[in-house]
Amino acid sequence: MQSEEYRAEEPDPGSIMRRPEGAAPDIGASMPSLARVPGRAAPIHRFPISAHAQAFRRRFYPGVTAGEWNDWKWQVRNRIRRLAELEPILDLTDDERAAIAARTGSLPIAITPYYLSLLSREDPDQPLRRTHLPVGAEFVTGPGEAPDPLGEDHDMAVPGLVHRYPDRVLFLTTGFCSTYCRYCTRSRMVGETNGEYSFSTSQWERAAQYIEAHPEIRDCLLSGGDPLSIGDDKLEWLLDRLRSIKHLQFLRIGTKIPVVMPQRITKSMTRMLARFHPLWMSIHFTHPDELTPETREACARLADAGIPLGSQTVLLKGINDSLPVMRDLMHGLLMARVKPYYLYQCDPVSGSAHFRTSVAAGLEIIRGLRGHTSGYAVPQFVIDAPGGGGKIPLLPDYLAGREGDDLLLENFEGGLYRYPDPGGTIGADRPR
Ligand code: SF4
Repeated sequence: MQSEEYRAEEPDPGSIMRRPEGAAPDIGASMPSLARVPGRAAPIHRFPISAHAQAFRRRFYPGVTAGEWNDWKWQVRNRIRRLAELEPILDLTDDERAAIAARTGSLPIAITPYYLSLLSREDPDQPLRRTHLPVGAEFVTGPGEAPDPLGEDHDMAVPGLVHRYPDRVLFLTTGFCSTYCRYCTRSRMVGETNGEYSFSTSQWERAAQYIEAHPEIRDCLLSGGDPLSIGDDKLEWLLDRLRSIKHLQFLRIGTKIPVVMPQRITKSMTRMLARFHPLWMSIHFTHPDELTPETREACARLADAGIPLGSQTVLLKGINDSLPVMRDLMHGLLMARVKPYYLYQCDPVSGSAHFRTSVAAGLEIIRGLRGHTSGYAVPQFVIDAPGGGGKIPLLPDYLAGREGDDLLLENFEGGLYRYPDPGGTIGADRPR
């Protein structure tokens, strides 16, 4: 089992010796030294720090320089993981305090100092705080909920590789995330040291060999955990290995790092990623408050590296389930050069009932966006069918019925329009 600790994930890009071509990275040998090297300053990536984050840093991290704050390895090393670390920064409710103290096993608490700066100190109902601090409801399994709601374990061809659709695979690269979301669909496998799930380079190699042996696979989504939490050296090795498979056309990375630790998007990493085109990225956004100068800079760097960016958003009760909030998020994403891609109905993972809206709430949001704003700002609303049925798109019903050879359609303003469809039958069951 890969350690949850940062040092087990991260080679230090500055200290890496080039390996012989084709050789797998040695995790032990490439462990970074987390101690500051005497006389060697922390790297400054000329990354923006918003006024809000500056004020937070000065108040709660007075001895920390801007360069350290902007060093993503400092952010990982200083993740907030314990009650005693949160108490001085947030006014915790009794419910939050008890849930934090009780949390053990997978889906631990971890929040980067940067992302913590976005959480409200006083308001337990603030959206970003609700999505990252546990409450007692997280320990209650509701009707229809399960630890693995999408049946991913059932579809694992080899450990860490889910092969559900004929032409594409889901490659689970790591169990590590810099910041853990309380509604995580993979809560069973993330963040646990010595847990049931393991991630290692030998497992990656086995997964690569499986893809190699299946020429029908043309698309590979790297996910986890968060693949961008892996150090440049190891990530480059994995991408190189996958690109060596000739029939694998399309690589995608699913990540929340640009949102929770945007400092990770260094120019050296984007240069490295640009070697592997066509490479696409899906970024997990939840709320417009996440669209800070730091996150916009991270997205700009990725877009400038030629990586098409899409967003994935989970619909969450009391967090983003209103039209104004969702419209602000979708508009903000377009301005950050990210195409809104999927809006997910919250998966019935154990302990997530307090996050789940009705399906109708999602449809109403789509109805409120479609036609009322740029088409590019409208994501596809989907339910990932429990048990491994895959993504099923849902649309508001714009079909009003049929009159003879005319299809009757309702537009975004509720107006009725005819479309000639001679001989058609669609809508015949709704005569007017
Ligand atoms: S970043 Fe993704 S994998 Fe990690 S906790 Fe959040 S939802 Fe789960």
